[in-house]
Amino acid sequence: MPKPLSDPSRDAGPPVACLVSLGCAKNTVDSERILASLVQDGFLIAERPEDADLCLVNTCGFIQDAREETATVLRDLASGRRRGRPARIVAIGCLVERAGSVPALREFLDAADATAGFAEFPRLPRFCREVLGLAPPAVRDAVGTLADFHRLPRLLSGGGHSACLKISEGCSNGCRFCTIPGIRGRQVSRPVDEILAEARSLIDSGVAEICLIGQDTTSYGHDLTGRRELAGLVRALSTLRGSVWFRLMYAFPKFIGDELLDALAADPRWCPYLDLPLQHISDAMLRAMGRGMGRDDTLRLLDRLAGRIPGLCMRTAYIVGHPGETDDDFAELLAFVREGRFLHAGVFVYSHEEGTPSASLPDRVPATVARLRRDELMRAQRGVSRAALQSWVGRTVEVIADEPVARGSAAPRHARWTGRHRGQAPEVDGVTFLAPRGGVALRPGRVVPARVLQGLDYDLVAEVTGAS
Ligand code: SF4
Repeated sequence: MPKPLSDPSRDAGPPVACLVSLGCAKNTVDSERILASLVQDGFLIAERPEDADLCLVNTCGFIQDAREETATVLRDLASGRRRGRPARIVAIGCLVERAGSVPALREFLDAADATAGFAEFPRLPRFCREVLGLAPPAVRDAVGTLADFHRLPRLLSGGGHSACLKISEGCSNGCRFCTIPGIRGRQVSRPVDEILAEARSLIDSGVAEICLIGQDTTSYGHDLTGRRELAGLVRALSTLRGSVWFRLMYAFPKFIGDELLDALAADPRWCPYLDLPLQHISDAMLRAMGRGMGRDDTLRLLDRLAGRIPGLCMRTAYIVGHPGETDDDFAELLAFVREGRFLHAGVFVYSHEEGTPSASLPDRVPATVARLRRDELMRAQRGVSRAALQSWVGRTVEVIADEPVARGSAAPRHARWTGRHRGQAPEVDGVTFLAPRGGVALRPGRVVPARVLQGLDYDLVAEVTGAS
């Protein structure tokens, strides 16, 4: 039960809330639904916590770095209060859920006045009113269950021209290092009709890019029918009218079949892009991580992908320092990265998570060694990325405009806008800096052809060549 605020130092009038969303795109989508439900309940939304009565922090807690970031944000909010605002700080979501089963993690939430796990999401507006000591709303809660919550409308963040579309929640894969199935539960897929209705409404509201997300998008539908149904979902989405880019994120490599690749290739609105988290390449490590496929399977898959989707740009993620990772395992991974198969890659240091099978393995890798390995891998990836992007100079690519370059930013001199070509996903990959020419007016979501002038470490610089 939240502690009510006995004497809220606020003017009479609608309560004002602010929301800070941490972690991944899955959290962002939840945050967008929460914001819409607060507005529906009569809350005003403030951009800055100091303008709000109550600040929600949608937390991330699946690894140590994420928990530390959450704790820092909560403490900064508490110590940065201005004239008592925000009067209440409420931590919600992922870390709250995990701290429910691992009490030692509660210290990361110390600076919050109240906490709410996923089960509270359908009734968060009422919960927030209780925290503020306000009367409950006159109308009944609009939603009752988490499934209802996932059908709520959203208040899109960012420019509103690019949106994620969550097709499932949770994961049933059981990779041995991962806390996510314990936090979010086993996979629950949304019905196709519901996903299509949300996609249609996003397109109708002017969204120009839709990124499909889930913990493992390739297992979509397995919980509903016993079969992996992502190819069918891709085909169903392809029947929707509208000029929109579709993009597939979080594809588990083991479950990528030819039917899915054919469905992606059949509609040019699907970006030639795949986010394919490999985690490692050495057989010993892939086995220890419980990934269900080895090095040779992975290499065969990558060759198959390159052959079937021309111009495919891929993103991956690696974990270094998993228990048992030897110098030889790491050298094998480093050599693989240097082959340059992935344009984008994120590298994570293994996080020791109580309750996961990996946490009970012997031969732990010292944190200093793991960090050095991460830095070395990132250096290698930077070289790969830079060489690949420099080879793009002179090409003309389609770019979706995101936002004007902020004054005083470190952008190249002629750049006026940032955008992304089809091989760059929002938030996680690099950007394409745009130098507009010929009076082409840019706005968020406008797609324009641009000639690549320069390749940087992770970004491109391009000049707009016309209007498409
Ligand atoms: S597929 Fe991803 S979310 Fe699912 S268990 Fe493996 S690492 Fe975790």
